Amino acid sequence: MTETALMPIPGLVDPVPVARAITPRSDGRSDLVGLPRAEIGVLFEAAGLDAKAAKLRAKQVFHWIYHRGVTDFAAMTDIAKAMRPWLAERFAIGRPEIVEAQHSTDGTRKWLLRTADSHEFEMVFIPDEARGTLCVSSQVGCTLNCRFCHTGTMRLVRNLTPGEIVGQVMLARDALGEWPNGNMAGFGAGSDTDDDDDETDDAPGNYTSDGRLLTNIVMMGMGEPLYNFDHVLDALKIVMDGDGLGLSKRRITLSTSGVVPMMARAGAEIGVNLAVSLHAVTKEVRDEIVPINRKYGIEELLVACAAYPGASNARRITFEYVMLDGVNDSDANARELVRLLKAHRLPAKVNLIPFNPWPGAPYACSSPERVRRFSEIVFEGGISAPIRTPRGRDIDAACGQLKTSAERKSRAELDRLAEEKQPALG
Ligand code: SAH
Ligand code: SF4
Repeated sequence: MTETALMPIPGLVDPVPVARAITPRSDGRSDLVGLPRAEIGVLFEAAGLDAKAAKLRAKQVFHWIYHRGVTDFAAMTDIAKAMRPWLAERFAIGRPEIVEAQHSTDGTRKWLLRTADSHEFEMVFIPDEARGTLCVSSQVGCTLNCRFCHTGTMRLVRNLTPGEIVGQVMLARDALGEWPNGNMAGFGAGSDTDDDDDETDDAPGNYTSDGRLLTNIVMMGMGEPLYNFDHVLDALKIVMDGDGLGLSKRRITLSTSGVVPMMARAGAEIGVNLAVSLHAVTKEVRDEIVPINRKYGIEELLVACAAYPGASNARRITFEYVMLDGVNDSDANARELVRLLKAHRLPAKVNLIPFNPWPGAPYACSSPERVRRFSEIVFEGGISAPIRTPRGRDIDAACGQLKTSAERKSRAELDRLAEEKQPALG
């Protein structure tokens, strides 16, 4: 078993288990995936390199791991040949293990993944004409229990490490065959850093990185990313690094159920697009379906949204709204939604998500006419409110369907779980 430490998470009463940042391996090597340049350098120095060499090697290895997707030190052509086995004896470049890969009839792909300590989690890839979006998990399970969400019926097992989070994006690039080809000679930040006198095998640069399928990332898989802030931050820094995975922050969206105290930090330190799982416009209904509302209410949440750094008309905040039959889908609810967003002068768009059912779910999806009418009212109020087409429902890959062990829970069991999770809300 991987060793875990206890860490108090903002908003929670009890500390929750958090895996160590470096995943220990049975062969004694350290897995470098998830580590920034500086930490790779520290490990190299601890293994015996002098400070200058450690820094240079860390920069090269960082580039090979994250920008080029190389998993074998032998392929790192600008590192002296004699040094490559030395690295391979001490370090590893891992990926989450794939337990199962599924394909939907609509092109959506879902992977069931396993951590080194045998916890399972999921990741989903959703291609469409204009973009390809990878839906990334931040936790195994979730401490919260939004009543319409399948993941909410799982206990939190643990936070994912930065390596397990960035590892999902790397695995997707592996699966889609999207690592740049060729070598980096003469190219960008990582260009010819080979200052060895030793033999290396650089060839002329033939580096290509165009035509990507994976263009966007959403932190909307399993878990609440703002309850795993540090690891999500570390992982996304590597994803956004020009010499790492090189994805612009404008192509990344983080979704939160409304962990208000962490939102300002998310804006300042991560700076990606924000999506907020609003789902209801009255205290009564939101308390019931998004229980974190009992701790951070709608007003407080919208004030935090208005203060979110970078929010502007060009970069609007997305408000997710799941359409639940007879629960939150009336004309009056739609009008109240417009009023609330306008009262806070929010640069907002609303995503209407038809409820995706799962076994034992206590809700049904609103009728198509109801969803359409709701959308019209919000549009008439001057706010864009497209209806999202569910993707990957046939393989349980749609929003809120992710859950690794598929046993069905009775209503009584769901109620018991809700009670159990109550202390998490303070
Ligand atoms: N924990 C974060 C991100 C993961 S959920 C959050 O709650 O925002 C991603 C989105 O899917 C959220 O808006 C969530 O509320 C929504 N969702 C959850 N279950 C759903 C379901 N059964 N049908 C449709 N959307 C759902
Ligand atoms: Fe957790 Fe998000 Fe699901 Fe709520 S909707 S239970 S916060 S994963």
